[in-house]
Amino acid sequence: MGNRHHVLDRFAEGAQYIGGRPRPGTSGRTQHITDPATGERVHSYELAGTDDVDDAVAAARAAFPEWSRATPGERSDALHRLAAVLAGEAGDIARVESLQCGKPIKLTTEFDVPGTIDNTAFFAGAARRLQGQSAGEYSADHTSYTRREAIGVIGSIAPWNYPLQMAAWKILPAIAAGNTIVLKPAEITPLTSLLLARAATAAGIPDGVVNIVSGAGRDAGEHLVGHPDVAMTSFTGSTAVGRRVAEIAGATAKRLHLELGGKAPFVVFDDADPEAAIHGAVAASLINAGQDCTAATRVYVQRPLYDRVRDGIADLMATVRLGDPFDPATDLGPLVSHAHRDRVAGLVDRARAHATVVTGGEAPDSPGAYYRPTLIAGAAQSSEIVQSEIFGPVLVILPFDSDDEGIALANDTPYGLAASAWTRDVYRANRATREIAAGCVWINDHIPIISEMPHGGYKASGHGKDMSEYSFEEYTQVKHVMFDNTATVRKDWHRTVFGDR
Ligand code: NAD
Repeated sequence: MGNRHHVLDRFAEGAQYIGGRPRPGTSGRTQHITDPATGERVHSYELAGTDDVDDAVAAARAAFPEWSRATPGERSDALHRLAAVLAGEAGDIARVESLQCGKPIKLTTEFDVPGTIDNTAFFAGAARRLQGQSAGEYSADHTSYTRREAIGVIGSIAPWNYPLQMAAWKILPAIAAGNTIVLKPAEITPLTSLLLARAATAAGIPDGVVNIVSGAGRDAGEHLVGHPDVAMTSFTGSTAVGRRVAEIAGATAKRLHLELGGKAPFVVFDDADPEAAIHGAVAASLINAGQDCTAATRVYVQRPLYDRVRDGIADLMATVRLGDPFDPATDLGPLVSHAHRDRVAGLVDRARAHATVVTGGEAPDSPGAYYRPTLIAGAAQSSEIVQSEIFGPVLVILPFDSDDEGIALANDTPYGLAASAWTRDVYRANRATREIAAGCVWINDHIPIISEMPHGGYKASGHGKDMSEYSFEEYTQVKHVMFDNTATVRKDWHRTVFGDR
């Protein structure tokens, strides 16, 4: 254990990163970080208070003029250097992420960290393609063009499920476009956001461009959202907190980007390859112990394949290896905390009254926050287990008859973040992509994401896009510039206000 904890020495100076320097928070309240695999308290830090938020916003504001005036090439170079620093620290970053979240080390080393480095490289390139529309004479007497400009200080709030990637998805497009940022990570998982901010400094990104305030949602978070010097809020988290954030941001009329909860359907038509669907459903529901906003949560199987897919998923789930997140053979680590594990267990226990737990449905005998892969059949479409976000290794499976019914069931929750359809029929596949209301629809796969493509929700899953060039639409504002071409004192249109032609 001692060996895996040595990475925590890097956080001895505090969990705030303001103006290019680490420091302790000033709220007077201590937050503990617990290793969810063991229940052991591994680190403590002083939470940010509102004064720390004010200091971070002031640092970001001071850094904005110079950073926003840097050329796209200069910002691009800085992001390329950041990608190199992150690559050099990849092993440590993966270990810290595994420690604070309980994620299997194979997930952090093969997904979280390389994904973040790739994102950084993508935004290094995208920074140079920050384009307005080309100029034109849309009125005969004028030349017009549009500019895309940075907005100012961005206040971002991130969740605990992918702390590094969520911080990267917020920070990278914002700073590539010339903004400066204050990011508030989730209280229980601030450490990799701090490593990212420190890497930015090591890469030569000026002090104050990237700031981290590790504080509680209700005080530091709400203060950041309502801060008058913050021009935009970008939030990733639950729909309930997103609504609260929207109220506060609305009161100051600032721009808002919301990435919220999900309840992704996984629709298996009767011509699908059942083995591919079975493997896909297990991987897509258990990734990150199901604590993934796009994870498969509701498998709908057309009646002829239903029994086979249900039994196949249950059998495959039983082979998944729970274990120490630092063991390279571990498939499934603990959930992020004991409190969250108990919440997931409570949802499953309530479902037992009216549905069948086909496999799992219990915590193994361990001091860690583990929960076994769980498959639930026979729940009503309207029940809590089908409608609410569980955010754990729990999948529900339901049959359907007609294609119309399968698509209607897929759309029948408040959420619309991601979905998949499994079929070898191109017309069914095409119909599913058109008719399922979600920000991403996969065909014959479920989970992969790439830096070049947008990620974001429909319906109660939020609005706005992370990753891809679409995120520049979030983190820039468009200016119309118009030149008079006539060089006349009295312009033709003046007669509509005074005088004659
Ligand atoms: P959460 O909403 O509880 O917390 C998210 C963040 O908001 C945390 O940093 C928290 O401290 C902060 N917060 C809490 N109350 C606040 C308040 N009143 N004002 C301001 N900030 C506040 O979510 P979570 O439990 O950390 O994460 C899980 C949720 O995140 C799930 O619902 C999941 O679907 C969602 N999520 C969505 C996406 C996406 O891209 N759509 C990605 C990852 C996670």
